[in-house]
Amino acid sequence: MINAGLSVSGLQHVGRLRGEIALSQFLTRSLREMGRHPLQSLVLYTQDEWKAKPAQIAQFAHEDGRAYVGRRLIDVPDPFGCHANWVDHYWQDFGGVLDRFAPDVRIVTTTQAYQHPEMQALVRDLASRAEEVRAVVNKYTATYRCPRCGNEGTSSIEKGKLNWRLEWPALWKVYRVDIEPFGKDHATPGGSRDSCAEVAQTIMHFRPPMGIPYEWVGIADRGKDLGDMGSSDFLGFTPVQWVEVGDPEVLRYPYAFTPTFRRIVLDLSRVDAYHDAYDRAEEAFYSSERKGDEDDQARAFELAQLAPPPKRKPFALSYRHAAFLSQISPETGRLEWSLNRMRDTGILARAPTAAERARIARRIEQARVWVEKYATENRVTLLQAMTPDVAAQLDDRDRSALRTYADKAARAAWTEDAIKDSMVSLTKAGGLPVETSRFFRDLYLVLLGSERGPRAAPFLAVLEKDWVLRRLHEAAK
Ligand SMILES: [Zn+2]
Repeated sequence: MINAGLSVSGLQHVGRLRGEIALSQFLTRSLREMGRHPLQSLVLYTQDEWKAKPAQIAQFAHEDGRAYVGRRLIDVPDPFGCHANWVDHYWQDFGGVLDRFAPDVRIVTTTQAYQHPEMQALVRDLASRAEEVRAVVNKYTATYRCPRCGNEGTSSIEKGKLNWRLEWPALWKVYRVDIEPFGKDHATPGGSRDSCAEVAQTIMHFRPPMGIPYEWVGIADRGKDLGDMGSSDFLGFTPVQWVEVGDPEVLRYPYAFTPTFRRIVLDLSRVDAYHDAYDRAEEAFYSSERKGDEDDQARAFELAQLAPPPKRKPFALSYRHAAFLSQISPETGRLEWSLNRMRDTGILARAPTAAERARIARRIEQARVWVEKYATENRVTLLQAMTPDVAAQLDDRDRSALRTYADKAARAAWTEDAIKDSMVSLTKAGGLPVETSRFFRDLYLVLLGSERGPRAAPFLAVLEKDWVLRRLHEAAK
């Protein structure tokens, strides 16, 4: 039994997919490949106290949430009124798609655990040995707070909910946990987990599970680190938000690749970069000659897969290309139009399989949502025809620069890399009559009608080469 636990104290963020879900699932799967029959399970701490932290209180728009301080999480109402209680509401955006990140996870709540006959027998036994139990637990009382629930461990065992120092080992015992990943806050030597391991041995007389500590996942906004994701602080984003912008495997990949002791920081404005890393790992997986850390990339890619990967490397449409295709394509027949454009521009050299078509369609849709919700700087609308207004903003040197570039581009292969090289060779060598920044301003102006735009090479690569050249020449007249 591989088990992890989490408290449903608020936002169920993707950071919790790291150790509690993905790491446990990698272990479960690897053990199965070795011929074992492990179960993956997850305990939801629903009996923990609702702390009335500011972000929790702020969830209640129509009443004063402070009234619920001290209640069990399961007894706090849903602030939005659409579910039976607080737990059900916040579990929705995690549990609702959990199968897509790790199939067949058995979920138990601590509310259910306390109804388990074995748990009830254990609670009765501990109550009958109250003095002995208290002596051990008091050794630690108030020395450490439980990092998960924030409780300090002074409540008595007779109240129907065990002190967390007893509850944790009791759950190990009742659910026969063998391996348990846990967040690094519990892991300090002599800290909360050590104390629970001692309680398991001295009071409950069993061997505690093997523990695997892991680092937290941080959240950043456009490169600015905002700290670790936090449930009761409502900091982070949910698995439901992720699946709008990417496949589960793409997020599982950094969880498989990054050593467990190293922090990971996620930033929704960088979803394109996560896809690039995933696509590179896919290349490495199918490559016969790997160098550097490509063996690790390939193994992590393999772990990140939820279905067996195809024999032959499938075509991968760059996420950034998908973002632009999603915007310049017509709404009806978007996939066919995009496939044609990909063939014209040399991005796609062969007829895609059904699975590849589905993947391309998915990426186009995901990247479209990403641009709209998290990366509006990648919004583009093509200037359908040159306008007098745009022409008036170009002087002789601007026109000359565009003509010079058009000549260079005409000889370049129409791929992202070749386009980038052709630009760099001009700007680095001082081959243009205007400053580099002015050149890009000119380029965006004649293609988009505005002075700014997305990174030029990936954007140009999805446009028709002839269309671009015609426009450059028309503007340079
Ligand atoms: Zn609800």
